[in-house]
Amino acid sequence: MINPCTICQATCCKTYRISVTSFDVKRISDRGIKSDFVEFHKPTMLAYDPDTILDFEDDYRGGILGFKSHPCYFLKDNRCTIHRFAPLSCKRYPFTIYNSLNPRFCPIPCQLLFRMKTADIQSSPVITELAKYKIIVKEWNKNPGKKKDCLQFLLERTIL
Ligand code: SF4
Ligand code: SF4
Repeated sequence: MINPCTICQATCCKTYRISVTSFDVKRISDRGIKSDFVEFHKPTMLAYDPDTILDFEDDYRGGILGFKSHPCYFLKDNRCTIHRFAPLSCKRYPFTIYNSLNPRFCPIPCQLLFRMKTADIQSSPVITELAKYKIIVKEWNKNPGKKKDCLQFLLERTIL
């Protein structure tokens, strides 16, 4: 079956702010890409898993680890330039980690094609990494430091 994304202009990559885990960051930066492509963005009430919100001693509103640029820094000519090691949530989209379909930004023909597919990436790596990431976040939040030190803290504890 045709890959629905080949007939789309990467709407999802241009629309979403991409939240990532330190595992995604490590996978990408291990390819020689400097980890300054991420930042902490403000959590909104409903959009994020509360267990991934990081506290900072110098910023009471906390933050979510995510890609800095929007549309995504890694999107060129409507194609993902890091496809093989893109964040796991990107690889699965529009399927959620629970294998349900959420094709909100997909063009209608793509939505129809996706409805004929099932998630072809096993959910377990996503769930496993997310669970490990939440443990690291919890460790940081027990004794939050300055925002500038947080990424290093997360990456030091992230083992792929
Ligand atoms: S997942 Fe949907 S919005 Fe994203 S590129 Fe594929 S078809 Fe387009
Ligand atoms: S990493 Fe790739 S798939 Fe994910 S938002 Fe960026 S360009 Fe799109």
